[in-house]
Amino acid sequence: AQQLPLPPAPRVFTVANQKGGVGKTTTTVNLAAALARGGARVLVIDLDPQGNASTALGVDHRSETPSVYDVVINDAPVASVLQKSPEFDALYCVPATIHLAGAEIELVSLVAREQRLRTSLDRFLAETSEPFHYVFIDCPPSLGLLTINAFVAAREVLIPIQCEYYALEGLSQLLNNIKLIERHLNPVLSVSTILLTMYDGRTNLANQVAEDVRNHFPKEVLKTVIPRSVRISEAPSYGQSVISYDPSSPGSLSYLEAAAEISRRGAPA
Ligand code: ADP
Ligand code: MG
Repeated sequence: AQQLPLPPAPRVFTVANQKGGVGKTTTTVNLAAALARGGARVLVIDLDPQGNASTALGVDHRSETPSVYDVVINDAPVASVLQKSPEFDALYCVPATIHLAGAEIELVSLVAREQRLRTSLDRFLAETSEPFHYVFIDCPPSLGLLTINAFVAAREVLIPIQCEYYALEGLSQLLNNIKLIERHLNPVLSVSTILLTMYDGRTNLANQVAEDVRNHFPKEVLKTVIPRSVRISEAPSYGQSVISYDPSSPGSLSYLEAAAEISRRGAPA
């Protein structure tokens, strides 16, 4: 596998979009796998009660499994809930279980409710004996306290955008919310990366939306686009990324290329 340049300090991404089904989880899992294959140590934090990222990475997330719920609600150390993915030695996951569904409400009455993930993650990243290069936090499709915890814990936001008619509509609201977080809770947060997903180049609409997004965000949008591909949607049912499930498929190659672009660009200044 091609070795990718490694960042000098951990890059922490929140993968966010207030729409469901736009490819947040798919992007989280496949970029993480692609970076791990390229020689990075990568941590995925599953912050969606549905636990799709945990499933896709093939890690245990039955209800009794120690999980991100224990980190956010009970101050459990990240190291105590971490699982290694069966796929790559350098790929780890903090799973989400069904308990996380209640965390949104339970967080309301806790002290420092917006900073709980950041406090635990920062401590973990500073203390872990083998340093991590990338952390990806997979968010639920809503702006609740879980997503706010993700925005506060991260430095970079990665927004997957599906090339369809309504794509830009939700985006300005998302960007406004990110501005609010930046102003009040996390001044170093920035949208560093936009990735066009489920792209079907045969349709004029997809091309039009892609062009609009590139015009609005010339610096942020990756050159690589992720095509719509059945192999990408099949991989999670085998508990694998598409990188392992079908390495030479167009979906796999596009996520490998996107990962290479992200690592070449480096962290925002
Ligand atoms: P989100 O996390 O934003 O809700 P997902 O990543 O779960 O979105 O994707 C939604 C659905 O679309 C899933 O069934 C997933 O397998 C499928 N999907 C995602 N990306 C692609 C793609 N590039 N090609 C085909 N199907 C995809
Ligand atoms: Mg998801």
